[in-house]
Amino acid sequence: MAIEVAHSKGSDPSTSPLGCVIVLEGKVIAAERNQTQELPDATAHAEMMAIRRACEGIGELELRGATLYSTLQPCGMCTMASIWSKVGRVVYGAGRADVHPMYFEAKHVDTLSFIGDAYRDDIEIEGGCLREECAELYYGPDADLPEEEQANL
Ligand SMILES: [Zn+2]
Repeated sequence: MAIEVAHSKGSDPSTSPLGCVIVLEGKVIAAERNQTQELPDATAHAEMMAIRRACEGIGELELRGATLYSTLQPCGMCTMASIWSKVGRVVYGAGRADVHPMYFEAKHVDTLSFIGDAYRDDIEIEGGCLREECAELYYGPDADLPEEEQANL
């Protein structure tokens, strides 16, 4: 479902099509694509938007017991937002090694692992779910991209 959401506004990899779905007690409580360009809002990553919609929808500050599914490994900001919102489990498709480095803010640190380790013992993080299908949404790790096509969106 997160892959479908990622494709919902086209699938040009230069627009970073990311999809995120949050499930609580077997029900989808949010499904969002990144909206940084259209809002415009640099923090409007798919996971941030989904966490906002999920909290609004259930009228709670915390998403304990919820699973956040993302097509791409969440960035540091979105991992931190998962910590703050008390998401129980994060499942993502493609990881850092599966896509072009332009999609990640940190060059040498895996912020997801760092943040997951540093702040919470009770958050489950699993990568590689439908890895190949998710990786197809993005530029490959070795894609030769002109500088102007590279943007961390
Ligand atoms: Zn993010």
